[in-house]
Amino acid sequence: MEYSRELIQEIIKKINLVEYIGQYVELKQRGKDYFGICPFHDDSDPSFSVSPEKNIWYCFGCGTGSTIIDFVMKYHKVKFPKAVEMLLDYLKLDVNNIKEEANIISFLKQFTYKKDLTQVEHKILPHDIMSKYIKKPIKEWLNEGIKQEVMDKYQVRYDKNANRAVFPIYDRYGNIINIKGRTLYPNYKDLGIPKYIYYYPLGCNDFLYGLPFKEDKIKELNEVIIVEGSKSVWKLEGWGVENVLSLETNRINEYQLRLLLELKCNVTVALDKGVLIKQIKKDFSKLCKFTNVYVMYDTEGLLEDKDAPCDKGKEVWDRLYSNKIKLR
Ligand code: ZN
Repeated sequence: MEYSRELIQEIIKKINLVEYIGQYVELKQRGKDYFGICPFHDDSDPSFSVSPEKNIWYCFGCGTGSTIIDFVMKYHKVKFPKAVEMLLDYLKLDVNNIKEEANIISFLKQFTYKKDLTQVEHKILPHDIMSKYIKKPIKEWLNEGIKQEVMDKYQVRYDKNANRAVFPIYDRYGNIINIKGRTLYPNYKDLGIPKYIYYYPLGCNDFLYGLPFKEDKIKELNEVIIVEGSKSVWKLEGWGVENVLSLETNRINEYQLRLLLELKCNVTVALDKGVLIKQIKKDFSKLCKFTNVYVMYDTEGLLEDKDAPCDKGKEVWDRLYSNKIKLR
């Protein structure tokens, strides 16, 4: 994909340079700027600086410096398009799911990116909040093989004002802390409408979707299966696979890792086909010290590019499950 100037500029604007570089370089504030040990030359006293005001980084030792894109290219040793892709990924935008660049730009413009680990105090919403929305079968999801009774259990409703399927997000104790909505406009991309939205400020995904419903079953089976989306949780429940929780994203964060550890059981990772095994290893290997971690990875080409492991039916799911590999 060719990336336009406008997109690049939007990315540069949107990313918090201190937060991004802070992942790789320990930065300390000194006046308006931040300083750390330069990752690009043999540095003994911190000569690497980041200026939030100018939105650039610069090293007084080796004289290199530029924008976030150049940092990514240099630090990760990647070419320009890969750097852009990595930054889109960092912004939680899956470039494969957003084909049209105009839509990426409108996404970036609509959302203020919050760093993954910004935890907000969740407001507990009224327990009957879903009664505001209509009980109506969501045809699209029924067609995907999700059972109506399961959708009823998880209070899937219809928001007629927004033409969205909506469902509550629960904290680990079963309180409703948010409502997530999926647009039902098939041409949502042309309309510049985001596919999924949260109705209340989210902060970060510090929950595992399904946990209050599944905890007993997970303990009983001594295993939790981690998928990306709530739809997979529902579909699998309809098949009798009950020990499944979803991240509601494809990168697990520290809060979710902590919740997993609390469950004290084996972990099986079953993310969508598009997530690289390298990424999964990086994210989940932290758990290996504490428990057994398995990965369901499609080595036989049973899935298509963007499929979740349950998208091709129960048989394929079972096969992927039985082929799972142990992470070390
Ligand atoms: Zn340097």
